[in-house]
Amino acid sequence: MNAGSKVNASPAAALRPRARDDAKSSMKKQAIVAKPNDRTAAVDSPHLPGPLEHATFVTGATSAAQLPSEGAREIAFAGRSNAGKSSAINALARQHRLAFASRTPGRTREVNFFRLRSGDLVADLPGYGYAAVPEALKRSWQDFLWSYVTTRSPLIGLVLIVDARHGLKPLDLDLLDAFMPSGRDVLVLATKIDKLNVAKGRDAVASIRASLRDRFGDVGGRVAVVGFSATTKRGLVEADDILRGWLA
Ligand code: GDP
Repeated sequence: MNAGSKVNASPAAALRPRARDDAKSSMKKQAIVAKPNDRTAAVDSPHLPGPLEHATFVTGATSAAQLPSEGAREIAFAGRSNAGKSSAINALARQHRLAFASRTPGRTREVNFFRLRSGDLVADLPGYGYAAVPEALKRSWQDFLWSYVTTRSPLIGLVLIVDARHGLKPLDLDLLDAFMPSGRDVLVLATKIDKLNVAKGRDAVASIRASLRDRFGDVGGRVAVVGFSATTKRGLVEADDILRGWLA
């Protein structure tokens, strides 16, 4: 879907009735007096609300038995501890504290569910790969995570958060190995891209794409990689559009 062209079409269309009724000078005057948050401005706005905007917390699950059973579609967010997953969810939701960054990295073991305006759910999976977590505990969370991504039937897509400076790590690839055979969509957000200059950011995204191609071959439009920053909001609208496409 080309959301961009749809978005660009609306302001011009909204102006047409005025252009018919009024002279050029009057149009100019209206444009000058329009306030950013009055009704006309909202209709003319090129911003489509992101699919995660106005998401609300529903529940936390620590075992398969606690996962929601209502059958709503789910989009899962996964990534290594500290990769920037909470920040990415908050940026996509245009909220500051929807997803909580754990005070102690690697300690969050819950899958947190957020309800979207569409009725679908986002599942915020526990971060993996934090070295200080005891081995047995790590293995039990990992089993839960792996079984969630491989067997969860309402799951329609996986958003994998990867620090752009570090690229895909073995645990990220393991998770993709588990998920890719399902044939469902993947969005890799190469986040913290603001920490790289333009050329290095471009290389980081290209190198993630190349690793995915090497490992999984030509996966067509199923896997997208987007340079992202929760700080500068770079890639936010592109990510919105992709997630909107999944939920269409
Ligand atoms: P999580 O453990 O994956 O949920 O990671 P957090 O979202 O808690 O982020 C870990 C650290 O990276 C925090 O200090 C964030 O402020 C920082 N961070 C996250 N995303 C970005 C980003 O896009 N740019 C920058 N510069 N820092 C970020």
